[in-house]
Amino acid sequence: MGTARRIDGKVLDADVVVCGGGVAGTMAAVAAARRGASVVLIERYGFLGGNATAGAVAQFNSWQTGKGRTVVAGLADEVVARLRAYGGARPHESFVMSTGHHMDRVEYSPEVLKLVLDDMVIEAGVQPLLHANLLDVDCEGGRITAVRVLTKGGVLTVREGVLIDASGDIDALDRAGARFLELDADEQLQPATMIFRFGPIDYTRFDALSKAETAALAKRGHAEGHLARAALHSSRDPYSDDGWFNISRLGIDATDPMALGAAEMEGRRQAWKAAQFLASSVPGCEGGQLRAFATQVGIRETRRVEGDHVLTAEELMRPVDFPDAIAAGAYPIDIHPASGGALHYVPMGDDHAYQIPYRSLLPLGLDNALVVGRGISATHQALAAIRVMTISMAVGQAAGTAAALALQKTDGRGNVRAVDTDALRTALLQDGAVLR
Ligand SMILES: Cc1cc2nc3c(=O)[nH]c(=O)nc-3n(C[C@H](O)[C@H](O)[C@H](O)COP(=O)(O)OP(=O)(O)OC[C@H]3O[C@@H](n4cnc5c(N)ncnc54)[C@H](O)[C@@H]3O)c2cc1C
Repeated sequence: MGTARRIDGKVLDADVVVCGGGVAGTMAAVAAARRGASVVLIERYGFLGGNATAGAVAQFNSWQTGKGRTVVAGLADEVVARLRAYGGARPHESFVMSTGHHMDRVEYSPEVLKLVLDDMVIEAGVQPLLHANLLDVDCEGGRITAVRVLTKGGVLTVREGVLIDASGDIDALDRAGARFLELDADEQLQPATMIFRFGPIDYTRFDALSKAETAALAKRGHAEGHLARAALHSSRDPYSDDGWFNISRLGIDATDPMALGAAEMEGRRQAWKAAQFLASSVPGCEGGQLRAFATQVGIRETRRVEGDHVLTAEELMRPVDFPDAIAAGAYPIDIHPASGGALHYVPMGDDHAYQIPYRSLLPLGLDNALVVGRGISATHQALAAIRVMTISMAVGQAAGTAAALALQKTDGRGNVRAVDTDALRTALLQDGAVLR
């Protein structure tokens, strides 16, 4: 364990390789490095964050139950504290939604989040490998021994003890031949969304709109064909009078390259139309215009791996007390249909929290691989709750910690099923995580 070793210009050795630098992958990399592992973090863009930065999601939801009990902390809290130190996050707020249910959030600047994630990775001693696209993986008897990435310098092979797939679409596990969960006959992938920045907004007037007025405007915008989704959902930028609007809807399978490219173009069209509607019809938005598109369409759901345990909505709703719980959450089941204006929303009770078991991070048939973020082993319905960034960060922290423990326990071979989950839970609690 220590520093990633460069064998020659084309080969790099590390204890842990994290594929994908979204919030889940970045937290996994930082957690593993802080526990002494040498870590390489592979990311196709020139910055980290995934949906949180490239997708401009701009708000971390659901830190608490309706009664104010904290369910996510640890590294996720540190991210917010560091954002605040830069002035890049607004205060934590709790509110009642138009559906009458509780929600809480922290709005942040996606640009500042890039800096914060850089800081955390550099300080932890993670070796970032940016502008690196996964090509394929080498497998030997249930172990992923190396990943190959396409970089500016050509193809680089990265050999590892543990592979953490945090690519959202779970590309590395796909190349390793892992098994994926199917949708039920009546289910569809959640749609993608092109988030856009709009401003300036007169927030005194925009915020004064009642829930009924906002809902009526959104309904009208949708009925008249200006809004793909009957909502005016947005996050306020901490630095300006601009907002990031989440009101487009693109029903695609984002692992289909043709569909993904087409969705980027259609997403920009939808965003442009929505911006015209905001300027023409929404009080407080008259002086505004579209300022920027997100770098890419935000992807809610693609592949979900089949793991040792498949987490279900029923287990979240009961909720089940898992002996190997490594993270908790309180976000409701929130399913955006692939088209149309509606939302399928199953709220949690006032003080309801659920747990995520370690076994849902263990892809079947692979000894040294973990999965984090929106590709973990869960049904479509359960993923609709646990996909949010707060929970993704908590699961990422757990996976990074588990990878370091697996390496210590198995002399660098990184057998993830050898991890003592009581020891893992103790380590996570020591590092500030909340597990129930
Ligand atoms: C439109 C939208 C709105 C949302 N709203 C909220 C919200 O309000 N609050 C909330 O908390 N959550 C929200 N979410 C959910 C949340 O943003 C995601 O579920 C979460 O960011 C998932 O994180 P992740 O790290 O698993 O994946 P991602 O963010 O998808 O990160 C994957 C990373 O891997 C990289 N990558 C992918 N493939 C490769 C490859 N082949 N090679 C190299 N790198 C690769 C990507 O560039 C990316 O950086 C929203 C999501 C969307 C799409």
